[in-house]
Amino acid sequence: MGKKFQAMRGTRDVLPGEIEAWQAVEEAARRQSSRFGFREIRTPLFEATELFARGVGDSTDIVRKEMYTFPDRKGRSLTLRPEGTAGVARALIEAGLARPHELHRLYYMGPMFRYDRPQAGRYRQFHQWGAEIVGTKSPWADVETILLLVGLLVDLGLEGLVVKVNSVGDETCRPAYQEKIRQALLPRRDELCEDCRERLDRNPLRVLDCKVPSDREIVKDLPPMLDSLCDPCREHFDAVKQGLDAAGVRYEIDPGLVRGLDYYTRTAYEVHHGKLGAQSAVGGGGRYDGLIQLLGGPAVPAVGFSMGIERTLIALEEEGRKPAPERDTIYLARGAGLGGQAVRLAQKLRSTYAVALDLEERGLGPQLKQADRIGARVALILGEDEAKAGEVTLKDLGSGEQRRVREAELESAIEQALRGPVART
Ligand code: AMP
Repeated sequence: MGKKFQAMRGTRDVLPGEIEAWQAVEEAARRQSSRFGFREIRTPLFEATELFARGVGDSTDIVRKEMYTFPDRKGRSLTLRPEGTAGVARALIEAGLARPHELHRLYYMGPMFRYDRPQAGRYRQFHQWGAEIVGTKSPWADVETILLLVGLLVDLGLEGLVVKVNSVGDETCRPAYQEKIRQALLPRRDELCEDCRERLDRNPLRVLDCKVPSDREIVKDLPPMLDSLCDPCREHFDAVKQGLDAAGVRYEIDPGLVRGLDYYTRTAYEVHHGKLGAQSAVGGGGRYDGLIQLLGGPAVPAVGFSMGIERTLIALEEEGRKPAPERDTIYLARGAGLGGQAVRLAQKLRSTYAVALDLEERGLGPQLKQADRIGARVALILGEDEAKAGEVTLKDLGSGEQRRVREAELESAIEQALRGPVART
């Protein structure tokens, strides 16, 4: 016996039966994106390690602990993308599309990779839908991205959503605030978790984001960033809040929300779902006005988010709203030696319906069992008798009723069967 292979820890297969819910979410995300005027961008799954080290930030958990990094055959250091924004920014710069005052509305979808401890809702390969508006500082862009994200989740039927917003300031007001909390935390340095002791040196703002309960207690007493915003940052934040109010989005202000990535400026937001437990963020994003310049492009501001597809599916399941597999397939069973006629009939019907054709030479019983297994709603039986008479037997697999139909009338009979029980004749 050969070795049995298994999917690697933190990765999963999506099998038929489950894939339909994925496809429903993905299709809804594409529809939602184009409804808001976003166009798709696809970037490679791996990039130079340096891109993420710089673009995500050396002080982040992602870069310090979670990247899948490896040398290729020529010794270049490559990394499987842990998030989508750095690659999108690189692509725009490379194509000469990152230009001041040139607006791009872009979305992406696909796998991301992070070497983290797997648990419910946290995987090593996971999937995101994300969107970016590049080329404007307007707070309306921040609002649009929030509406895009929340709109999809609401359209999918999710109810227990909480939108949290904050501002993390910019290069004018943040340094002084960072210093303020560093000074406030220094006397209690030894009480902080090991990660936070390091964060205190590298990027004190990230201590606010720590999930360790004893650290949360300490952080709770710190002055919020919102009290230290410079005037332009405050005006921007006020405008975002007004925009959300105007759009009827309910939100909470969360002074502890700083997000894991270093490149955020001003607006930071997250959408949580109450039933997701510890990993409750379905999606999150914010403004990153400095990123494109940091990656060697011109000074072009941007804002965006990403949403986890697995977590969205878990939230939908928790609310009993997971999209069910479609059961509209027609299964074509046939008598021995009628392969040619069956193929011809299947091809004709496929201009309108999804038709699976039985491939084996076998009895009707096993063929109908297979029809059930794939979730077909209707079976068509083309036996010798039917073939001679120019007819087909149509069996409604829900009710079990069946009748003979002339081939010329088959389509209307199928319509009727798919819409409801087969009428008795
Ligand atoms: P982030 O880039 O960390 O803000 O993540 C954005 C969204 O991606 C989160 O809100 C999650 O829904 C999802 N996500 C992030 N990391 C993981 C992971 N390891 N496994 C599954 N989903 C994740």
